[in-house]
Amino acid sequence: MTDIVSSQTDMKFSGFSCTSKGRALETAEYDPKTLKDLDVEIAISHCGICHSDIHLIDNDWGNSVYPFIPGHEIIGQVRALGRSVKHLNIGDRVGVGWQCGVCFICDLCTSGYENLCPDSQPTCVGRNGGYANGIRVDSRFAFPIPSALSSENAAPLLCGGITVYSPFREYDIKPKDKVAIVGVGGLGHLAVQFANAMGCEVTAISHSADKEDEAKSLGAHRFINSSNAFLMSQANDSFDFVLSTVSVDVDWQKCLDLLSPNGTLCFVGASPTQISVRLMDVIMGQKRVAGSGIGSPHRIKEMFSFAARHDIQSMTELYPIGQVNEALDRIREGKVRYRAVLEMR
Ligand code: NAP
Ligand code: ZN
Repeated sequence: MTDIVSSQTDMKFSGFSCTSKGRALETAEYDPKTLKDLDVEIAISHCGICHSDIHLIDNDWGNSVYPFIPGHEIIGQVRALGRSVKHLNIGDRVGVGWQCGVCFICDLCTSGYENLCPDSQPTCVGRNGGYANGIRVDSRFAFPIPSALSSENAAPLLCGGITVYSPFREYDIKPKDKVAIVGVGGLGHLAVQFANAMGCEVTAISHSADKEDEAKSLGAHRFINSSNAFLMSQANDSFDFVLSTVSVDVDWQKCLDLLSPNGTLCFVGASPTQISVRLMDVIMGQKRVAGSGIGSPHRIKEMFSFAARHDIQSMTELYPIGQVNEALDRIREGKVRYRAVLEMR
């Protein structure tokens, strides 16, 4: 084991780097971080492109650290092991999502909420992520991928999938619940599938009328075109849970209006602005405005086993890594159906 580790230490990694706000990515070579005792080195085969990568490339959130290699929906094979890694083997197929480290000792970490740890380490903020041929990460954030899932289809589950699965569990959504998924993109098309598999009555709400048939084939029982004010107002007061996955600022009051009393409007889509809703509606309807970020390691494992059992599949467009900039532009233009995935070939 030690020999395998040392044979990798001199190897440079290569990937596609973002050097400043909004710029096209460029090829780059770099030294990987030191392989620590609990780390694994992964030979990356696939990486999904989450819209959060675009927010980072464009510095929408104001926290981007350039240069960096984006990518946090990573799948590949374990190529080297730190000397204390016991639960993974060379050759295992594993995945890494948004989070690659936590403190492991705070109250949140020790109660199963590692995703909320104040010392959370994002995979591609201040470090290099997955648009590359390799990565070294803490093995506790490298998750085995069920054999039922192909790498291309599983990669988007590592961020998009867990981000929409976790709020259903945290907010205790029940099969009887009426659920609306706002935005049928990378996250939204997975949310429709998870909600359907959980037995909910599912409505997809989209500003793209041409997504209706696919949204229904993914498991939506109903489809509402959000550009149609009449159809939207007809749906007011009718949902127990509204999950917003949109990447831009829209009229959030219209989303709140969709809730029946006691309902929850949950944000996972992370537009960089503030939300504004009528407080009296929240109070008098006893409504909740809530949020959810990724999911903890135990939830990721649970999500993978649920996805494998219920045949949750990302619909993907596959791009060789050399076409990363074309793929990013197609996402910016809203053309991808529904997740672009890079293949390292
Ligand atoms: P995506 O694939 O680009 O999908 C975003 C969707 O937003 C689009 O498909 C579109 O849906 C909707 N949208 C875009 N422009 C719109 C407009 N002008 N008006 C109305 N709707 C519009 O992005 P994604 O990868 O799913 O990510 C979605 C958001 O989730 C991003 O902000 C991302 O950063 C965030 N995110 C959050 C977490 C977390 O932990 N909370 C994790 C991952 C991602 P329709 O065409 O159907 O309307
Ligand atoms: Zn993401």
